[in-house]
Amino acid sequence: MDINEMLEFDKCHIWHPYTSMIDPLPVYPVRSADGVYIELETGEKLIDGMSSWWSTVHGYNNPLLNDAIKEQLEKMSHVMFGGFTHAPAVKLAQKLVDMTPGVLDRVFYCDSGSVSVEVAIKMALQYMQAKDKRHATKLATARGGYHGDTWHAMSVCDPVGGMHTLYEGRVPVQFFAPRPSIPFGGEWNDSEMDPLRELFEKRGSEIAAFIIEPVVQGASGMWIYHPQYLQGVRKLCDEYGILMIADEVATGFGRTGRMFACEWAGVTPDIMCLGKAITGGYMSFAAVMATSDVALTISSREPRSFMHGPTFMGNPLACAVANASLELVSQPHVLPRIAEIQKQMQLYLEPVRHMPCVADLRVLGAIAVVELRKPVDMARMQKLCVEEGVWIRPFGKLFYIMPQYIITDEQLAALCGAMVRILSHE
Ligand SMILES: *Cc1c(COP(=O)(O)O)cnc(C)c1O
Repeated sequence: MDINEMLEFDKCHIWHPYTSMIDPLPVYPVRSADGVYIELETGEKLIDGMSSWWSTVHGYNNPLLNDAIKEQLEKMSHVMFGGFTHAPAVKLAQKLVDMTPGVLDRVFYCDSGSVSVEVAIKMALQYMQAKDKRHATKLATARGGYHGDTWHAMSVCDPVGGMHTLYEGRVPVQFFAPRPSIPFGGEWNDSEMDPLRELFEKRGSEIAAFIIEPVVQGASGMWIYHPQYLQGVRKLCDEYGILMIADEVATGFGRTGRMFACEWAGVTPDIMCLGKAITGGYMSFAAVMATSDVALTISSREPRSFMHGPTFMGNPLACAVANASLELVSQPHVLPRIAEIQKQMQLYLEPVRHMPCVADLRVLGAIAVVELRKPVDMARMQKLCVEEGVWIRPFGKLFYIMPQYIITDEQLAALCGAMVRILSHE
């Protein structure tokens, strides 16, 4: 297919995320991807700085992940999960129960991160019904969050940065506490919890669950906050009989330097959402972990079951590749390597800290965020990145990377070097 024809058809007929159908942002045609490299149809090879939105942590075209899918493909690519089970789903559940903190031992499979958030919310609401807490029908969250694009997930996204005004009157209205204000590494102050305590004190009986992205609020602002906040949340949730939902869709599986970001606080939520990197970025798939208390309470009352069951629930191909991905991420060298990636990014990006266009530099695990003083022109910045041989997709004031865990020192130096050069001309 001729590249220009392909781009022309794409422009006229295909929606891309968050862009106009009349005057869309440019898209780059990709031919293939291997390891950390994305190869364009026009021949350029780009070092991936985005892990395709937090997901492809073991690199593209990974031989072990490929083999896992191929092997499963020959057995069965899909079978319904109602009335059936299979080895890939059971093996994966064993791994997830082992890996995730504490008492999270019930697993619900679904299709995507957003759906996992919907599922978590439905679990919380059904739990409260089973407990006869009829007024506990709302959610609470902190400002500055992102939890996906489906209906209830949208309702707990940041009320300013999210899509609330667009769907006003139709998106459920939830309770918002201020964004956690103390940065990771900052000095903790107990008064940080006052607004949430006040909210729970006033409206606690109406709240089924508090949902938050642990330690790193990702897509809505790349804000990295003090883990002690999560201990405060856990304590308040226990005190007021509110469930705690940790949305680890972005942070899970090593991204912050711990296997799960909750571990920074030593906190176990009642419900945990997992997605993105769970399949190594191979397939759309997610899992919701819950405690036995949540699962058994829901089943103790009519209709005695949790009312959700997507067509592709527990898809064998996705489970098989997730099993391989979790085996890779559990290898003993992976978390230490992520710690090294953090150190190197801190070192290589330090020169940007005092540039006039830069407001803040934040690094944790395999995440590095340069916050600029002014919003960037995305199309222009992206073009500069491609010219530098790297793939970075900035948004708003944020120029950030979350590289793959398999990136080498040289590739990471090149990725960060490109960022420094681009920013030095801003
Ligand atoms: C990306 C993301 C979601 C939504 O996941 P999708 O797979 O895009 O539906 C939910 N929560 C968080 C924290 C995310 O980063």
